[in-house]
Amino acid sequence: MEPAIVVEGFRKTYGDVVAVDGIDFIVAPGEVFGLLGPNGAGKTTTLECLEGLRFPTAGRLRVRGIDPAREPRRLRDVTGVQLQTSGLPETMRVDEAMRFFCAYHERAPRWDLLERFGLQERRRIEYGTLSTGQQRRLALALALVNDPPVVFLDEPTAGLDVATRAELHALVSELRERGVALVLATHDMAEAEKLADRVAILLAGRIVASGTPRALTAAASDLTRVSVRSELETLATRSTPYPGVSRQLRNDGYDVFFTDAIGPTVAAILRTLEEASDPLIDLRVERPSLEERFLELTSAGAAA
Ligand code: ATP
Repeated sequence: MEPAIVVEGFRKTYGDVVAVDGIDFIVAPGEVFGLLGPNGAGKTTTLECLEGLRFPTAGRLRVRGIDPAREPRRLRDVTGVQLQTSGLPETMRVDEAMRFFCAYHERAPRWDLLERFGLQERRRIEYGTLSTGQQRRLALALALVNDPPVVFLDEPTAGLDVATRAELHALVSELRERGVALVLATHDMAEAEKLADRVAILLAGRIVASGTPRALTAAASDLTRVSVRSELETLATRSTPYPGVSRQLRNDGYDVFFTDAIGPTVAAILRTLEEASDPLIDLRVERPSLEERFLELTSAGAAA
């Protein structure tokens, strides 16, 4: 299958500032690709070059076979862009924004999208008076007016409440199922872990790790954490070591075990509690998250 996006040896400098220092990735149709990184890592620069808003200093970019720098009109037909801030005038009404975007794409207004994004009732309201969640939903609706096969999302859920965030996540999954390729720039690791099929972690303009969120977290040196709270707190008194556990500590009323063998560790914990007639209050098993992997990589990068 033809990739939706190809990035090869991409580099972008602003004067002396190297924003992106030679990166490569491809995105397939129907794939959500997460571009992760701390502030200033080069995520927005990468998106903006793919969107044809800025020009690469070197390298090759293709979006559905189109060179964004050379064919902006063709690019416009195949891409949808939800920007970090929509750039809409505060006093522009929702229906005016819809007409404006559709005129830009030479289409009749897509009132169906306002309906679908729960904005039908708000169509006479000015952009500046919408809630943050409504503004974000409008930005996404406007990004989809041309039914684009490629969609760019820059921090799509920053500042949203839990319910609105979940709604947007459902929309992203729906687009992906329809075969849309999505590039998601974010520093929200939980979001990336949930939504992205593959991610690349950008640090100072370079990709320091890439792959599926699962593969990346599996590569983390952090072990699985088992946290246990019991009534009589007898776990630390066991004379033999817990199987698989390389580190054990007390934290906030919990005994915390770092293990590479969850099953035997948990079994031994339960056995110990039973033998001591110590009632279990809480037991949590936490795999290392993408966030921990990210912090590990970024702190290694910062130290280098
Ligand atoms: P954020 O999450 O804060 O948006 P980012 O990962 O998107 O960060 P970029 O905005 O792409 O990062 O910035 C990458 C680097 O390029 C930063 O050092 C930034 O200061 C620099 N930069 C971005 N735009 C310009 C510009 N127009 N002129 C000069 N330097 C710039």
